[in-house]
Amino acid sequence: MKLSRVEALQGAIRRLKMGSPDHLFLEKELFNTEAGIRGEQRLRKKFIEFYFPEGYEIIWNNCLSLNQWPVQIDGLLLTEKVAIIIESKNISGELYFDNDTREFYRVDATGLKTVMDNPSIQVEKHIRFMKAWFAAHSIQLPVDGLLVFTSKQAELKTLPQNIRTCRHHHMIELLFKIIKEYKPPTNLRSSLEYTKNLIESNQTPFVQKPILVQYSIKTELLARGIFCEHCDTPTVVKHLRSWRCLQCGLVDNHSPVRAILEYISLFGGPISNQNIRDFTGIKDRHAVKRLLTLNDFEKTGQKRHSKYSLK
Ligand SMILES: [Zn+2]
Repeated sequence: MKLSRVEALQGAIRRLKMGSPDHLFLEKELFNTEAGIRGEQRLRKKFIEFYFPEGYEIIWNNCLSLNQWPVQIDGLLLTEKVAIIIESKNISGELYFDNDTREFYRVDATGLKTVMDNPSIQVEKHIRFMKAWFAAHSIQLPVDGLLVFTSKQAELKTLPQNIRTCRHHHMIELLFKIIKEYKPPTNLRSSLEYTKNLIESNQTPFVQKPILVQYSIKTELLARGIFCEHCDTPTVVKHLRSWRCLQCGLVDNHSPVRAILEYISLFGGPISNQNIRDFTGIKDRHAVKRLLTLNDFEKTGQKRHSKYSLK
């Protein structure tokens, strides 16, 4: 029931004043998030070409942690010889790695230069993490990494010296090349299946910060009300037994629940009946209570002290 990252950003954007700094910033975040998702899909599709009869496992979207250190690794390829971290970046334009300063920047079609976090440093960090994680779980397997740019409009002008880097059409060949560099295991190692199961059973769900916290957006900048999915205005009200948009007339009985989910993605939980009334403009506390109960929110506390959260 929880909103996806894209839905949460879309929900926040339409509540901010068009053209305001926060509005523009979140639109950019949404664009990057969607680009990232598309890039990962492109990467996974490419993996069909990874024909490797010796046996391998690939685990996508790993959320692991070691003590208090959480990481999100796009892809982790496990073979008998080596584990390879695969990170994808969907960035278009001319891309430059400065190996002296370790800066990474992009020059777009208009000549505009943008300095970004150097993704090769992220891969280095993830290699270091995975080595420590394997050591902590008594798995003897070397770790390597590959940085893959998935945008069709990416042009790699210079490469980083620390991490092998390519565009996605080159990924499979480079993976074979990396595997070839490692010797077959001499002593008996844990089976790939064992390692894979261990990694999968240790996944820790990534806890996304509420949007207002993550981007330091002021509460009062948000429009209140229940938004209509058709005309995108906060004009949905209860009419007899259904929820109807005053602007366009659309009846959408899911719209108040979506507003509650938006509240949680913006502010975090748990939430009170009052929070929802303030946010949605629904005046009747019993109507809100019904929505929360019927839609399977988890209740803690009694009567007016009740709080609700996502199961
Ligand atoms: Zn409408």
